[in-house]
Amino acid sequence: MSNIKQKQIKTLLVENNQEDAFSLRKKLADTREVRFNLTHVERLEKALQCLQQESFDVVLLDLSLPDSHGLATFLSLEEIVPNLPIVLLTTLNDESLALEAIRQGAQDYLVKEQTTINVLLRSINYAIERMHHVEKLFQSEERLQQINRELEKRVKKCTFELKYQNQELKKLFLLATTDRITGIANRYRLEDFLEREWGDAIRNQVPLSIIMIDIDRFKLYNDTYGHPQGDRCLRQVAQTIDATIKRSKDLVARYGGEEFIVILPNVDIDGAAVVAENIRSQVKALNIAHATSEISDRLTISLGVASTIPAHNSQASNLIMTADRALYFAKQHGRNRIEIYQNQYQN
Ligand code: GH3
Ligand code: MG
Ligand code: MG
Repeated sequence: MSNIKQKQIKTLLVENNQEDAFSLRKKLADTREVRFNLTHVERLEKALQCLQQESFDVVLLDLSLPDSHGLATFLSLEEIVPNLPIVLLTTLNDESLALEAIRQGAQDYLVKEQTTINVLLRSINYAIERMHHVEKLFQSEERLQQINRELEKRVKKCTFELKYQNQELKKLFLLATTDRITGIANRYRLEDFLEREWGDAIRNQVPLSIIMIDIDRFKLYNDTYGHPQGDRCLRQVAQTIDATIKRSKDLVARYGGEEFIVILPNVDIDGAAVVAENIRSQVKALNIAHATSEISDRLTISLGVASTIPAHNSQASNLIMTADRALYFAKQHGRNRIEIYQNQYQN
């Protein structure tokens, strides 16, 4: 009872029975431990007015009033001051009604005939204390919800930033792995891709094929049509090779100058030869004029194909060398052709 000792308790007594009201008022006035500032009204309507105009610490409420009866009396008050402790004053006859009111949120009920000053004080004190706890609980719940809202906001912000950074990273990755002139993968991407596919082919003991492609007489092309036109031609050839490759797990990259490499994971030498022939005929079909080439008046390419099921501890660079050897033979044997490296690659 320590906290109610220091202040006075503003109490609204809603009671139409003059005798009961008098007796209660006397009991409250007699107590020396607590000071009560009591407002007494006899009707519900008056009680509602009071509660709208002033604030109280507690309401002592008789359920049977001239203008309201039973549970409705309590509910009318509860509706306008849901956080104010309401203690019911009952007669022995309407105890069950009071119990129902407790279920609906009333703090306590006092049977008038049995209420001593101590019972009254304890009830009021508990009612106020309990309501303070409920308020505190409510406040911490509010704080928790506020924290939750802040957290949600931060998570949203972080997710947005991460998405943005992810997009930027993808752009950077694309920029770092794309060849500027041709728009296809560059050598850095090629080496990275080949290393990974080589490892997979070793683990799974499946074939891996490489096609190395070189434009025929490209120096003469530049000399004849100029370097800028040479760049446009390079791009056209690169894009055509890229478009020929249908499987997403294959890679077309610019290896250097006017040389390209196609990596075909899980494709054997026969499959690679079919792809190579397709590339050769598609580039030929571009019908790019090359007036100074002795091979044809149209731009042509030579291709070297190599394939292997790589042995453990073998190097991918050796398969590139093998494809390069095949390309060299294609050049030796007249260009505008495909040469397939026949011996199984050994390491
Ligand atoms: P071969 O049939 O033996 O391959 O003859 P080639 O003339 O194609 O071979 P060579 O290696 O003598 O010349 C390659 C040429 O490719 C030389 C260079 O000017 C040209 N080249 C390399 N990179 C680029 C480029 O980025 N743009 C342009 N326009 N030309 C390039
Ligand atoms: Mg070359
Ligand atoms: Mg060339």
